Amino acid sequence: MEYPKRNKVLIIGSGPAGLTAAIYCARANLNPIVFEGYQAGGQLTMTTDVENFPGFPEGIMGPNLMDLLRSQAQKFGAKCITRQIDNVNFSSQPFVLQSGSDILEADSVIISTGASAKLLGIKGEDKFVGKGLSTCATCDGFFFKDKSIHVIGGGDSAMEEAIFLTKFASKVTVLHRRDTLRASKIMVDRAIKNPKIDFIWNANPKEFLGNDDKGLNGLIYKDTKTGNDINIDTDGVFVAIGHNPNTSLFKDVLDMDSSGYLITEGKSSKTNIPGVFASGDVQDSTYRQAITAAGSGCMAAIDAERFLEEKGEL
Ligand SMILES: Cc1cc2nc3c(=O)[nH]c(=O)nc-3n(C[C@H](O)[C@H](O)[C@H](O)COP(=O)(O)OP(=O)(O)OC[C@H]3O[C@@H](n4cnc5c(N)ncnc54)[C@H](O)[C@@H]3O)c2cc1C
Repeated sequence: MEYPKRNKVLIIGSGPAGLTAAIYCARANLNPIVFEGYQAGGQLTMTTDVENFPGFPEGIMGPNLMDLLRSQAQKFGAKCITRQIDNVNFSSQPFVLQSGSDILEADSVIISTGASAKLLGIKGEDKFVGKGLSTCATCDGFFFKDKSIHVIGGGDSAMEEAIFLTKFASKVTVLHRRDTLRASKIMVDRAIKNPKIDFIWNANPKEFLGNDDKGLNGLIYKDTKTGNDINIDTDGVFVAIGHNPNTSLFKDVLDMDSSGYLITEGKSSKTNIPGVFASGDVQDSTYRQAITAAGSGCMAAIDAERFLEEKGEL
């Protein structure tokens, strides 16, 4: 095994939350081990410019930011393992975790497995994420100043994104596959009253179009009423059809809300099992930002350290 079997702190996930937890744990001499998972560096590795992470006035490319966080954690002794955790048993101490055929033990665990934006799974989607196609208006709205853009979705998050995007874009067109919206009445009213927002109803997106140089510049949707394929130009698309927290591993093990987000206690990172902590998007359906994820990773590390101290493990 390329890592110790018994660990004081095992961190699951290597996005801003997991790596910030690793920096703090490593500096507290807890020798954290980080299981990075299939997406080492987390969601920011899917994007280009990050302009709202403090400390980078010129902005920084998402993958570069994550490389810096990983180097910082490793500099203080964190071990990053590019493997997945496949199973957990939190029923007794030490906790038992499985990665492939390896069995590990940990006195405390920090869960930072993030959340994934739901995507449509249509042609061109993977190619244009971060190149004109976004799943986060707060993150990327600023890049679409005076542009004509499209938002896909019909729920509250789609309306929220569309309204937010009108601060930047010259025009926001919402594409929805039905002829009524699922969003709450108040959000629908706000969106419909907004002079910058238009709707295309009964529109089922089929393909994103563009080129390698300039990125996304169009899309094809099927008009479900007529059956016709319609080709439209766009300066950018926001897919706003919700998020899935990565919590299937913890089903029936940890308390979750109705959408599957881990529940943490009060202002802490504590889950319902003492010694198991959660940080980042996996427990945050509201903010979902790199800086809030990093902040909660710091909280989880401090909570883990205090837990170990109280148990006499330090
Ligand atoms: C395209 C895009 C652009 C964005 N732009 C910005 C931006 O400009 N500014 C901003 O603040 N935010 C931005 N965000 C949001 C930001 O990326 C997230 O809020 C942040 O990454 C959440 O961090 P996290 O550590 O909670 O989880 P994530 O970054 O989602 O990382 C989750 C980690 O968990 C790992 N994992 C999952 N399951 C397992 C398992 N079983 N075993 C081991 N590891 C596992 C994954 O491999 C991954 O490393 C953007 C998001 C996207 C998708």
